[in-house]
Amino acid sequence: MIIAIDGPAGAGKSTIAKMVAKCLDFLYIDTGAMYRALTVKVLAQGLKINDRHGIIDLAQTSTINLVNTPEEIMRVLLDGRDVSIEIRQPQVTKYVSDIARIKEVREVMVELQRQLGKKGNVVLDGRDIGTVVFPDAKKKFYLDADFKERVNRRLKELQLIGTPVTFEDVAADLKNRDTIDSTREVAPLKKADDAISIDTTSMSIEAVVEKVLLHIQDGTLL
Ligand code: C5P
Repeated sequence: MIIAIDGPAGAGKSTIAKMVAKCLDFLYIDTGAMYRALTVKVLAQGLKINDRHGIIDLAQTSTINLVNTPEEIMRVLLDGRDVSIEIRQPQVTKYVSDIARIKEVREVMVELQRQLGKKGNVVLDGRDIGTVVFPDAKKKFYLDADFKERVNRRLKELQLIGTPVTFEDVAADLKNRDTIDSTREVAPLKKADDAISIDTTSMSIEAVVEKVLLHIQDGTLL
């Protein structure tokens, strides 16, 4: 069974998706981590962000793996190297949406995501899971929250891992990514018609998880 969780950055997708996957004993797949891993490589190789051909070539020749560990930490491997920490760096966050808007890059990632989905019971979070990657997913959710709340959540997360950023830095990043992600030509961020919308602004994590699980159970899928 496939469960799709989409929405903008800071809406709570990855936290919720991870917890739902744990409750159901499903595999968790963070699709944003794949685009981030490729961005790490693009930056490490000194490619320009407008070097479309170079970036497509890297996407087609790189190996990206997601590994769910027993400690419940998802590891991201790029050509066999653990880049789980690097993918969260501000430079990567700054450029990832420019890379994710390239059609051929998306083709590579979507194929990878579909392969992973074949493993059976999975929860995927991203921007286009319910609309493009798995349009037939059994359950689709679209999580959103007020902009200020999303910025504050991201700020907290970054501060927890010791990244020195201000509210203004995070707000500028989210605004930029929201714009690119929702206006790009290929697979723009949008709610699938059959997705369940949840505004997480004033909800606790537990309340959102409960709501998602209830919807899944209502569908008598467990
Ligand atoms: O989920 P996260 O914020 O880590 O995603 C980073 C970026 O990757 C997004 O801003 C978006 O540009 C891209 N992305 C995407 N499609 C997905 C997942 C992420 O375009 N399914």
